[in-house]
Amino acid sequence: MTEKPSLPQSIMTGLAGRCPRCRKGRLFSGFLHVDKTCEACGLDYGFADAGDGPAIFVILFSGFIVVGAALIVEVMYQPPFWLHAVLWGPLILLVTLLPLRLLKGLLIVLQYHHRAAEGRFERDGKP
Ligand SMILES: [Zn+2]
Repeated sequence: MTEKPSLPQSIMTGLAGRCPRCRKGRLFSGFLHVDKTCEACGLDYGFADAGDGPAIFVILFSGFIVVGAALIVEVMYQPPFWLHAVLWGPLILLVTLLPLRLLKGLLIVLQYHHRAAEGRFERDGKP
């Protein structure tokens, strides 16, 4: 596949955890570990550096949901603390672990789609 995929295609590719170039190979070799190369087209994933981006989005999103829900339940029902632990512990795991892989794949594929990289100097001195 040589033509550049559209932005919606790239988004779906990222959410599926597929290679940003061929959209067939796997992006991850583990739950969150990015593979070294694409098994289908050989694309070097050395460019892939999502950094803290996925974690920040997940922290903000999950914090809003869990803290908001805990505050609402506490104000309305005043349950014992053990019930808070039983309710919010599993919810925290659910709303943090599941979207983390999706967002990491999405950010890496968007990084490839937009050719985003750290700034660097060309050999002839042009930025
Ligand atoms: Zn590939």
